[in-house]
Amino acid sequence: MHVTRTLIAAFGSALLGAALSAQVPASDVDAHINAARAAAGLDYRATFVNLCFAGAGPPLARGGGAARGAPTPGAAAGRAAGPATPDRAMWYASPYRIFDNLYWLGTRQHSSWALRTSEGLIILDTNFAWATQPEILDGLKTLGLDPRDIKYVVISHAHGDHDQGAAELQRRYSAKVVMGAPDWESTLQRPATAAGGVPTRDISVGPDGMKLTLGDTTVTIVATPGHTPGTLSYVFPVKDRGGNVMVAYSGGTLTGAFGTDAARWDEYVASQKKIAKAAADAGATVILSNHSEYDNAYTKARLIAVKREVGEDHPFVAGAAAVQRYFTVMTECATASKLRATANQR
Ligand SMILES: [Zn+2]
Repeated sequence: MHVTRTLIAAFGSALLGAALSAQVPASDVDAHINAARAAAGLDYRATFVNLCFAGAGPPLARGGGAARGAPTPGAAAGRAAGPATPDRAMWYASPYRIFDNLYWLGTRQHSSWALRTSEGLIILDTNFAWATQPEILDGLKTLGLDPRDIKYVVISHAHGDHDQGAAELQRRYSAKVVMGAPDWESTLQRPATAAGGVPTRDISVGPDGMKLTLGDTTVTIVATPGHTPGTLSYVFPVKDRGGNVMVAYSGGTLTGAFGTDAARWDEYVASQKKIAKAAADAGATVILSNHSEYDNAYTKARLIAVKREVGEDHPFVAGAAAVQRYFTVMTECATASKLRATANQR
């Protein structure tokens, strides 16, 4: 019943906008969902729907939350085997230079980023193995960059849609792979035949996070366990026409596999609050994800080429408050979902 009612409310809100927010919450669950809906606005609707309605009853988000949320080594290995290369017409996207020193190398669905420093490139997330050549390597060349300059590959979490390219970049360019310690453990249990291969352990990030400095650029890596036990999120500076812009990067999203594991829900919420604070402290005005459905990276990337009028901001610069609203959606949806999962247990 809850699911049905809240779903109707959620989709109703898309039509009615703020009108529904005046309704009195019928329960604590609804109060948190209303808070998430208000924070999401029109900017973060996919994050809101996928998070607020996952984990209770049958999977409602496309593809099912559990398929991408489970952290168990067996499941990770199964995912690593991955699908065969899908039809290119369904995923290929041209690469784009987003900021002076940040480049988007994603497919239409999943993002990979190159951060250019004075001493080489940092790749933030890879993608499925089949995207390494056409998107990352060919993309770098198209944008005038050299894959041989890749020094680090930072993996937000060990799921195949973000990490299958890591082993190839490590092998071909001697890039150092950076991953959360628990996600290294699950990665190293994959069979050698896993899609993309298995990287060798380089840099392992513990619960206190780390600062990764290459040349003139430092990426602050924040451990945000939840989506997987070793999920990492980041805060880092980029340049927009010479000016400083701070970016917050959310490393893991879905909660579909949490079930009734209260500690895991709490850990996830604490992690979102932690990265939200790091983003606020740094003055982050850009929110990035590794899925275009959450940060609209593919859409915004194509807007880079559109002339900016006087007073118009960069398409990715949303403002500090908007960055905080993103994490509020994650926190409030997870809180609602935990309550719902617990209620379903009684
Ligand atoms: Zn994942």
